[in-house]
Amino acid sequence: MREKLKALAELQKVDMEAASLRKAADVHPRQIAELERELGTARSAMEAERNRLADIERQKLQLEQNIADEKDKVKKWEARLAEQRSTREYSALAREIDIAKKANLTMADELVELTKTLGATRETVKGKEAEFASRQQQLVTRMGELRTKLAEAESQVKALEGQRTGVATHVDANLLRRYETIRKKKLPALVGVVAGTCQGCNMNVPPQLYNQLRTSLGTDVCPSCHRIIFAVEALAEPTSK
Ligand SMILES: [Zn+2]
Repeated sequence: MREKLKALAELQKVDMEAASLRKAADVHPRQIAELERELGTARSAMEAERNRLADIERQKLQLEQNIADEKDKVKKWEARLAEQRSTREYSALAREIDIAKKANLTMADELVELTKTLGATRETVKGKEAEFASRQQQLVTRMGELRTKLAEAESQVKALEGQRTGVATHVDANLLRRYETIRKKKLPALVGVVAGTCQGCNMNVPPQLYNQLRTSLGTDVCPSCHRIIFAVEALAEPTSK
C-alpha cells in the first residue's frame, strides 16, 4: 500500500512542478504583448510628428506656388497697364496691382514664418526618431529576453512531461485513473490528512476513516472534497523498524 502511495506522490510532485512552471511562464506572453503595445505607441508618436512635418512641407510648397502665381499676375497686369488709354481703367488696374503686391508681401512674411516652423519641426522629428530608435532597441532586447525565458520554461515543462510518463508507469492503474480525474479539476489531487484534518479542504475526516488510513498506510477519498487522501504518517520515513 505504502509503495503505491509513494509512487503517486512522486507523480504528483512532477505535476505540481510542471504546473508551477507553466504558471510562472504564463506572465511572459502578457509582458511581451505589453511591450509590443508600448513600442507601437512610441512609433505612433514619432509618426504623428513626421506627418506634421509633411503637412508643413506641403503648406510651404503651396505658399511658394501662390507667391509665384501672384507675381506672374502682377507682371501681366503691369504689362497691360502701359496699354491703358482711359484714366479710369488705368487707375482701376493700378489699384488691383497694388492690392496684389500687398498680398504678396503678406505671403512672403508667412513664408518666412513657415520656413522657421519647418526648421524647428525637422529638429523635433530628428529628436523623436532618435528617441524612438533607442526605446525600440531597449524594448526589442527585453522582448528577446522574455521570449528566451518562455522557451526555456517550455522546454523544462516538456522535460517534466517526459519524466512524468516514466513515473506514471509505477502508479497503480486504478489509483492513477482516479488521480487523473481529480487532477483535471484540482491540484493537488492527493493530499495528506494531518491530525484528522484533510489538507485539501481543511475539513475533519470521520475518525474511523482516519484510523483506517493510519493502519493501512494506503489511500481513500475525502468525503468533503473528494481528493485522494492518506495519513501523513504513511509517507514519513519509518523511525524504528
Ligand atoms: Zn478534503
